[in-house]
Amino acid sequence: MSYCILQVALDTPLDSWFDYRWPCAPGEEPQVGQLALVDFGRRETVGLIVAVKRESDVPPEKLKDAIAVRAQLAPLSPTWLALAQFAADYYQRPLGEVALPGLPKNLRVGTTVPLDRAIKKLAKQEAAHDPAPAGMPVLNPAQQLAADAIGSAQGFAPMLLYGVTGSGKTEVYLQACAQVLAREPDAQILVMVPEINLTPQLEGNIRARFPGVMVATLHSSLSEGERMLHWLAAHEGRARIVLGTRLAILASLPRLKLIVIDEEHDPSYKQQEGLRYSARDLAVWRAHQLGIPIVLGSATPSLETWHHAQSGRYRKLELRERAVKDAVLPRVRLVDTERDRPREGLSNQLVAALRQRMERGEQSLLFLNRRGYAPVITCEACGWISNCTRCSSFMVLHKPEHRLRCHHCSLELRIPRACPDCGNVDLQPLGRGTQRVEEGLQAMFPEARILRIDADSTRRKGSAQAAFDSVHRGEVDILVGTQMVAKGHDFKKLTLVGVLNPDTALFSQDYRASERLFAQLMQVAGRAGRAGRGEGASESEVLIQTRYATHPLYAAVVNHDYERFAGSLLAERKQAALPPFMYQALLRAEARQLADATAFLEAARDLLVSEAVFINDPIPMTMTRVHNMERAQLLVESNSRPALQAFLKAWMADLRAMKTRVRWSLEVDPLDI
Ligand code: ADP
Ligand code: ZN
Ligand code: ZN
Repeated sequence: MSYCILQVALDTPLDSWFDYRWPCAPGEEPQVGQLALVDFGRRETVGLIVAVKRESDVPPEKLKDAIAVRAQLAPLSPTWLALAQFAADYYQRPLGEVALPGLPKNLRVGTTVPLDRAIKKLAKQEAAHDPAPAGMPVLNPAQQLAADAIGSAQGFAPMLLYGVTGSGKTEVYLQACAQVLAREPDAQILVMVPEINLTPQLEGNIRARFPGVMVATLHSSLSEGERMLHWLAAHEGRARIVLGTRLAILASLPRLKLIVIDEEHDPSYKQQEGLRYSARDLAVWRAHQLGIPIVLGSATPSLETWHHAQSGRYRKLELRERAVKDAVLPRVRLVDTERDRPREGLSNQLVAALRQRMERGEQSLLFLNRRGYAPVITCEACGWISNCTRCSSFMVLHKPEHRLRCHHCSLELRIPRACPDCGNVDLQPLGRGTQRVEEGLQAMFPEARILRIDADSTRRKGSAQAAFDSVHRGEVDILVGTQMVAKGHDFKKLTLVGVLNPDTALFSQDYRASERLFAQLMQVAGRAGRAGRGEGASESEVLIQTRYATHPLYAAVVNHDYERFAGSLLAERKQAALPPFMYQALLRAEARQLADATAFLEAARDLLVSEAVFINDPIPMTMTRVHNMERAQLLVESNSRPALQAFLKAWMADLRAMKTRVRWSLEVDPLDI
């Protein structure tokens, strides 16, 4: 028997590849891109074959045999491997940690279900989803221009679809997809959305529009079985459209011909733990690698994308008006809460506007980005407040559950009967979350049908979808919610949006906070008045309650003036040498004692010098303590991306060699600093 050597990447933090022996006749060696089951440490695990060799540097007595090779699975393509390798290099992680976790679990464990039986099940599911083709609406001229530009683009062609809320971007994507699918019989298209649960309409629209076309979905709330089926359908090229969240960017798509990123500005395209990648950035790289078009859509593009569009690197396609006849952008008014003092969180003007919608049978939305009943409870007698004992944060009052909860470490306590310090029984909630707003509203409008939508009210699988459906059916008068309700939805009867208490973000230390707040306000405002103004319907309105009514950010929202606001933010960023004019990486460390975390970062700072890279001093993170760990960070900056990348590669090697008990991680292009 002759042997070959399989070099495999494994899902471990060790930055090396591992050799295994595999008995095979010459000419019948496994291929690069196949998966092999191997013994690693004391467990069986699946590795990705990155090379097949004749010889190994490992002494023969130490070389183990691979257990099996998944021969029935077509190898992952060289372009897919290159994508994974790029992501690994760029984000400074071992290849195995990038390539393997994204594969369905079934492929990563010892025993698998037979693949063809699986496959049949999806085919059946597909047959069930086979409604008659839905008619295509006639595009308006701006939409048509955009759809044709996307549908006919050849080669690497990055495009920004910049369209105001309600301008019909979805319809543009759908018709561009139709053009590509009609022209290229086996083309695959990747459509990415920020959060699948918040965009059930899009999935429905796609399936209705393309009957007979297999649509696969990839997101984190699929069961393992479903994930396997959908992943395989994409890998084998059977799924023509793959709709997914950020994790779908690493899907195997052998015939990918177009990428669509809806709401490209959305922070959820950034993975915030483990491999902290930006799915949007990887998507642009992937399109470049494959030489295919990519469209990034938004009413409020990220400054990075806007900068590229302004400089001409991305082609800008514009939709300046709402698509539905008579639908115009809502009128935005600022309510100065110093003059019109809110009761139960609601100003007189907002209450009057709500009453008017109630009388006309129209829907209203109150947006408050804070869940729970109150962010903290206090004792007025002695000044005690409900701090979390493990974090530098407060315990949030959740009244329906009779609990105090820390949103950072999940610590839960019963609401104390009396002040733990002085025994006073009169503890007071301070501030206001969605539960308290809901309660106040119900008292003020006893006849109203009020629905709260936030992470607490939608914990059960499918409950978010059910809640949105009931809004669409008109069973809700007033919707109260967090950012979950701000995105994407097309609620036809909604004519009023009230924004409660957005001011805190104005004074955040995070330089991205104003970009984020502006986008959020424009998005939530965009939920109003989407259906056009019927006979006797109210003018659609957005009321923003603020103590800082003269702030320029609000002026820009009132004027729906993204462009000017983005222009001024970009000028500020340039002046202050911040992204997108600067490239950053963040080294984070955590330890029981802050001094240990800081000492580690100081040692890290002194490991390496580079002319082209500026290393800041370590500082404690804004939220220093979480779950009894003290956290600090070190920012590294350069105005050259290649210089930063070269530095990080060398630095990571040194960091890995350091002996430390401190937990640390490196993030490239961090969003929260
Ligand atoms: P966006 O994603 O830009 O916010 P949507 O794609 O949700 O906007 O579209 C807003 C509304 O306009 C939807 O109800 C959609 O059905 C409708 N719409 C889109 N294009 C057209 C069109 N050409 N004619 C009529 N209605 C349209
Ligand atoms: Zn007290
Ligand atoms: Zn906590």
